[in-house]
Amino acid sequence: MKSRPWLQLSSFLRASLEKTKVTNVRKGHPVFDAVPKKKQELKAQTILHGVAASPGIAMGSAFVLADDRVTAERRTITAAEVPQEIDKLKAILETTQQELIENSAQAGSESAQDQERIAEVHRMVLDDEYFIGEVNAMIRNELVNADYAFQERIDQYAEQLRKRGGHFAEIADELHEIKHKVIRRLNGDRRQLLNQAEDAVIVVSHDLTTSVALTLNRHKIKGVATDLGGKTSHAALLARAYRVPAVVGLREITGAIKNADRVIVDGNNGVVLVNPDKATSAQYRARRNKWLAAVKKLDHLRDLPARTIDNRDLTLAANLEYADEVEDVLAHGAAGVGLLRTEYLYLGRDCLPDEEEQFQEYARIAAAVKPHPVIIRTMDVGGDKSPQCIDIPPEANPMLGWRAIRISLERPEIFIAQIKAILRANTRGNARILLPMISGIEQLDEALALIEKTKRQLRKQGQAFEPDTEVGVMIEIPSAALLADAIAERVDFLSIGTNDLVQYLLAVDRGNERIAHLFENLHPAVLRVIKNVIDAGHSKGIWVGMCGEMAADRLATVLLVGMKIDELSVSPVDVPEIKKIIRYTDFHDAEKLAQKVLNFSTAKEIIDFMRQYMRRRFKDVAL
Ligand code: PEP
Ligand code: MG
Repeated sequence: MKSRPWLQLSSFLRASLEKTKVTNVRKGHPVFDAVPKKKQELKAQTILHGVAASPGIAMGSAFVLADDRVTAERRTITAAEVPQEIDKLKAILETTQQELIENSAQAGSESAQDQERIAEVHRMVLDDEYFIGEVNAMIRNELVNADYAFQERIDQYAEQLRKRGGHFAEIADELHEIKHKVIRRLNGDRRQLLNQAEDAVIVVSHDLTTSVALTLNRHKIKGVATDLGGKTSHAALLARAYRVPAVVGLREITGAIKNADRVIVDGNNGVVLVNPDKATSAQYRARRNKWLAAVKKLDHLRDLPARTIDNRDLTLAANLEYADEVEDVLAHGAAGVGLLRTEYLYLGRDCLPDEEEQFQEYARIAAAVKPHPVIIRTMDVGGDKSPQCIDIPPEANPMLGWRAIRISLERPEIFIAQIKAILRANTRGNARILLPMISGIEQLDEALALIEKTKRQLRKQGQAFEPDTEVGVMIEIPSAALLADAIAERVDFLSIGTNDLVQYLLAVDRGNERIAHLFENLHPAVLRVIKNVIDAGHSKGIWVGMCGEMAADRLATVLLVGMKIDELSVSPVDVPEIKKIIRYTDFHDAEKLAQKVLNFSTAKEIIDFMRQYMRRRFKDVAL
């Protein structure tokens, strides 16, 4: 688009609309004045079904948290909140404009023309008093939130421009960019509001990424309900880590709920009730008390080992997502940390964590769980976890893209800093290294060579560290599963990451609620692959664990015991019940059961069979 003299969006569009005599313009009215209401007002009790993602029942008030998605939700505000919304929008428009000025100053010469074009369109909107006046009028007259009003007006202008095609369509694209910027900032504000809330609330959101979750105060969250996600999505993992009930994959909850609506999240059955009636609330209160009593009954297992009836010992460890959960590990009776997801150190900040910061963190966790081990997985960002501190260009298939070890090997300075921190934190002897997303032997050899190089550097620097720190590999890509014996020859242990392994083996996006029913831990192909990995590890004399969510799948526990898994690592909340199942299992019976089930050819047969088996043996385990 060629640079044109400065114009304001509203006058520019009014002029162009006059020329084309757009039929929906009513005489004497601003260009657009009829805003359709997208949301249905809910009065009666509504029941929504999704994926049960974190156990328990939460009851409370909804806090609709728009996340980094770029669509604003319509919220009704009170008349008293109007000035606040208008001021908030004004402040954000000013900041956005300031950022635009700074970015233009920094832009290189090749992009000068582009910058000029973008700057021009930004000015058309951000300086347009008529346009801003329209947005403010909508906030005032319709009592809606600022981000929604801004979005509605921009969308209407953009729609008209797009219809005209050519360079008008390019302007429409720029308008969307501005909209995204402004809405993101306004959303950030909602997070702050949540953190300042007086009481804990039920967070209702389109999705909940790790980066967003890291900015939230966990004590203000008593339940989670999201449109997107499956059992292994980050929203689910977050809720389990925070020990709050969650239902994900509800598809339409953000469209069916208003701020402060009363909500029940039944994380045991995957049900959310909006504005429940009195009788239903009473029924759920009773269910919640029963559930809490059942959980309490498992307390006595805390200090007992995860040992089968016939004395086969397993290691039952816990997965950690965030540093502040470490006390939950021992409180729930786990034998250490089987998976420390170190991404929390890299997300939600604009600089990389340095070696010293990481050393302090790993040493603290190692000390807290000693004598049990802490298995520290090296950075697994990329995919659906985008750090600000590493520039990951947009990708068509991020889950198959530049993530985890692939980044670590291309950015060895990041990897080496992390390995140095782990090796130094292991002076007590209970920290281990775990490499994520290994797909082949060359890659593993490269990573192992870098670990050796790191040791040489530490030696040279005279730093204290443990040279014999054990190294393990996550088996979460089908190629690694097929090469498990060759991998096992090179390392000290294997840990099966079923969240990704099932996703890649069955070609089912783990975060896509539409196909969540196809994400089957008990698929016969999954069971066979797992059995092969366990056998491959044992044939090379090393132990094999599992740290994906399948390790907490009650229908799978006896089968995994029977397949001779050595370690299971689950969210702290899952530890007591999984321990109970192990302690009521006879290893030799489980082995026979696994042999039988491995011959089944459909997931349905396996699930039906295991459900019946578990119902017979474990009457009070929720399946
Ligand atoms: C897995 O893929 O099973 C796993 C444990 O890793 P994450 O869920 O962090 O991808
Ligand atoms: Mg994984």
